[in-house]
Formats: sequence, C-alpha cells, structure tokens
Amino acid sequence: MELIETARALVASGPICDHCLGRPFADRSFGLTNAERGRAVRTTIAMADDVDYETTSPTDCWVCEGICGRFDELADDAIDALGETELYSYQVGSRVPPLVEENDRLLRTEASLEADAGEPLRSELNREVGRRIGARLGVDVDFRRPDVQFTVDLEDGTIDVQRNSISVYGRYRKLERGIPQTEWDTYDESVEELVAPPLLSAFRGTEAVFHGAGREDVDALMLEAGRPFVMEIKQPRRRSADLEALEAEINDRTAGKAAVGGLTFVSYEMIERVKQLDATKTYRATVEFDDAVDVDAFSAALEALDGATIAQRTPHRVDHRRADLVRERRVLSIEGTLEDDVSAIVEIHGEGGLYIKELISGDEGRTEPNLAGIVGVGATVVALDVIDVEGAEEPFLTDDYLLDRDGAPATGRAQG
Ligand SMILES: [Zn+2]
Repeated sequence: MELIETARALVASGPICDHCLGRPFADRSFGLTNAERGRAVRTTIAMADDVDYETTSPTDCWVCEGICGRFDELADDAIDALGETELYSYQVGSRVPPLVEENDRLLRTEASLEADAGEPLRSELNREVGRRIGARLGVDVDFRRPDVQFTVDLEDGTIDVQRNSISVYGRYRKLERGIPQTEWDTYDESVEELVAPPLLSAFRGTEAVFHGAGREDVDALMLEAGRPFVMEIKQPRRRSADLEALEAEINDRTAGKAAVGGLTFVSYEMIERVKQLDATKTYRATVEFDDAVDVDAFSAALEALDGATIAQRTPHRVDHRRADLVRERRVLSIEGTLEDDVSAIVEIHGEGGLYIKELISGDEGRTEPNLAGIVGVGATVVALDVIDVEGAEEPFLTDDYLLDRDGAPATGRAQG
C-alpha cells in the first residue's frame, strides 16, 4: 500500500494523536520524533485530500489513551522517585497496560500493516521519558549497566528506582590470626566487618558484599602484597568518593589487625573475575620435624619438589562430605631454610588449590610426593601464612576493568 493510503487508514481508525500516527512509520525516516512524523503525515493527507487539518491530543487518542501526553510528567515523577542520588548514567524501562499495547497492534492491522510495524509504544515511552530525565540531570543513557534503572509501571502507577551497585577493588592484608575473611558466627570480627562500614557510609548504600579472590584459613595471616577483593556496595546514593581518604580511614579503624591498599573503582565484571580467576599463591610455612633433619637431605627434598606435580587425595582435615578424589597441582617454586635441626621456614609458590599442609606432612600417604616422605622424617606445618595471591596468567586488575568515567556525577534531587 502507498504511504498515503496507509496514512488515510490510520487516521480513519479513530481519534489518534500525532505520536501514535507517526509511530508506525518510525523506520521510514530518521532524525524525527514520532510526533513530528505524525504531524507530517497528517499535513500530507490534509493537502492531498483537501480536508481540514485536525489534530487529536493524546488525551483523546484511542490508541495510547493519553500516555503520549505524559512524558514530561513521568520524567518529573521519576526524578522525584530518585531522590538525592548521584549518577552518571541511567536507563528507562516500562510496563504499559496490555490493553494499550493491544490498541497499538490493532491500529496497524486496521491499516494492513504488520502488527509490529515501526516502533512499539513502549519503546517510544522509554526513549522520550529517558531523554527528558537525561536532559534535566545532565547524564547519559547506558543500555548495558546504568547507574540507575528506572521502571515506569503504567499499570499500577509506580516508578521503581534501582540503583546499581558500585564496585571498589583493592587488596587486603590480614595481620592478626583468628580473623575470618567474612562474617562468621563464632568470631567477633572479620576482614569484611573491619573494611565495609566506611565504604558503606561513604557511598550511602544499603549493603556491602565482600568478594575475595579465594580465602586463607582463619588462623593464617595474609601478608605482603595482600589478597585481591572487590567490595560491592548495593543501592548506593553516592558514586564518587576520595578513595585515598577512605583507605586511610579503614586502616585507622582496623587498628593493625588488617589493612587495605590500592582502592580503585572498577566495573561490575571485576567481581566475577576476582572470584573466578585461577590464582597462584605464595605461602610461608613454619614446619616442625619429628626428628633431627640433615641439611643436605632437606635441600635435596626441596630440589625434588621444585616444579613437581603433586597428586593430592582430598585431605583428611577437609569436610568429609566433600568428594574424595585425587587432584594434581604444581609446585611452581619452593625454597626454605632450617632454623635448627627440627624446624624450618618453607616458602611455596603453588598453583591455586594446592594443599600446603599436606604437601609438607604427606597426609598419611594421601599427598605424593611430599616433604616428610622425601626427607624421611615426619613433618607438620605449625603456622601458615599467605604472602601473595596473583593471577596465574595475568594480573587481576587490567585496564579493561577500570571504570571509565569522565567528570563528576550529576545529582538527582527530590523536588518541592
Ligand atoms: Zn496516542
């Protein structure tokens, strides 16, 4: 059908506003709003057929039933619902009453168009309300992971505001034994509980979730370079903060029990990376032997283990509900010194998942080869600390995961 005939059929369908008249032609001309398209179509018919040019306001439109006249009002309502919140980016989604969506399809079939010709009402609503919010707050639309997601629900007349979480990367050191990484009933405090409160209050979030790149035993220290983590702050009302000052505040608060460093804003994807990236770890083990050990035998044992692939059956000490299986992990490097003839300090750099206590003791033959076995004297780890945690192939934090942001965030404010 010719455009003009289609246009006549659309206008003949009943009182129709310019938006609804223009929307079926949305893929015909670019750079115009649907309302501008609708006006152009109406003018064309008026001239061609020499009839009165008569427009219909959205309030009287049989298709949208007034929705297309409410874009300004809905944008105002959305900004009200946002309250005082910093944001760099937003996105608008909506729920339109099914009967109105049905009108939108009916309009097209009456003009012999495909039921989904042009643009659906819902996407015009999202774009037009979004554009107004963006202009008023001076922020950009982001379809991937916006800071704020508005959902305009025209069915129940509500506007939902979702403030997407903010992620701060860093490394922590644990300088006192007996502190778990995250909250645990039987312990008074955890690394998470020491680190979270200043971040939670700076970003005015509702909850802080700690994501660590693995975890050390409760009784192990985490030293030197520290362990990577991401602190996720949920529903934040602030998105900018002086991370250096926060770092100092956290380290003041932890009173020497733990420390954080290198706090940096990162993208949400960094959470998965920190949790998934197969990290190698460097441990420092204090080892006690059951009997005197000869220096040469000790050195020869370390040499034998350096670079060795270790077969480990699930250790005795591990939860018995865990499957009993044999895993292979490499000792990437190992070195050590005898303190006296029954004790030694051993540093092991191993693949993720290598059981260190068992590498030393042999775990009654469940780990092979092992230090005790090679030396021929029973050996036990009496203290174990983690010195470093690093990505097996590449560093944890690469440029891809830095949050790419210009300027300061805008602030939405409740009106009135
Ligand atoms: Zn309409």
